[in-house]
Amino acid sequence: MWDFRFWIGIGPSTGALSAASGSCYDAARKRGESNIQNLKFKLSSRRPKLGQHFLHDQRYRSRILEALPLEACDVVFEIGPGRGAMTGLLAERARKVIAIEIDRALAQGLKEDFPYVEIILADVLRVDFAALCREQGIKQGFVFGNLPYYITSPILHHLFAQRDSIRSMGLLMQSEVAERVTAAPGTRDYGYLTVAAQLYSQPLTAFTVPPGAFSPAPKVLSALVTFQMKARFELWTRATGDKFLGFVKRCFAQKRKNLLNNLVGFYLRDRIVQALEEAHKSVNLRAEQLSLEELAGVFERLTRAAGGARKDN
Ligand code: SAM
Repeated sequence: MWDFRFWIGIGPSTGALSAASGSCYDAARKRGESNIQNLKFKLSSRRPKLGQHFLHDQRYRSRILEALPLEACDVVFEIGPGRGAMTGLLAERARKVIAIEIDRALAQGLKEDFPYVEIILADVLRVDFAALCREQGIKQGFVFGNLPYYITSPILHHLFAQRDSIRSMGLLMQSEVAERVTAAPGTRDYGYLTVAAQLYSQPLTAFTVPPGAFSPAPKVLSALVTFQMKARFELWTRATGDKFLGFVKRCFAQKRKNLLNNLVGFYLRDRIVQALEEAHKSVNLRAEQLSLEELAGVFERLTRAAGGARKDN
């Protein structure tokens, strides 16, 4: 029995498809929705604009599977299953696989090759994972994806926003993004994406995957990153996480500027100086020199102080 669900074009109130994101990536994603051809995917042409680099190396497929913190009772949400390089392997290990693919020809091929997998024809950025979990009668699922690299960051933010519905994840991404996600303070890669990822999860790079493992080979090295979806400070993050990340975005707005100059348009200068001094930090520090905890400390001091905020914070 297979369940092949064409969700594109169905209104946001139906099922697990949320309202259109309207991002700058829409044009590329929409290409996946057009040219409806019921060709089996093996006959379909590849769409480089949709980030289609298929994992053909069997050894890396096995290594990836072994490295995933997957449990037999998990329901897996697979992002971009493509031609199913990992889909069957995941299905052997987990309770169920629900695969979300934007390319109609690929989705049709998957339906034929993996009749026991539920295929959702949709843009992952529009998928509501909480609704998927409700439909499956579960609280949380496991997310796997060999991500389409043209939207790695939007996908990560979409997943972090829905972290309550995700137990754990294993994502293959460009190693440059993996380095940003797992970066330590004081390094070149440390920035907004790092803080967001490390606030909401515990990311860990498992290993890198060379371009030759994919067909066609991408221009960059890839890396598998696993994420345990556990917030750094659970209660504080639940109450304050989104506001804090708005603050962090301002802190890193211009990487060459120090923290004080990035924040001065939003808070009174004296208050920022005071908050940094209270935290025993130099006023000349740049944001990347502060750990997540230190950034949270400065944020708390600024927002706690009556009259500290200059604008809506
Ligand atoms: N999982 C397959 C593999 O490992 O061989 C394919 C991975 S390929 C790097 C990325 C896949 O994501 C492609 O199948 C592509 O069509 C799909 N994709 C691209 N954009 C997408 C989107 N917005 N939503 C869902 N799938 C998307």
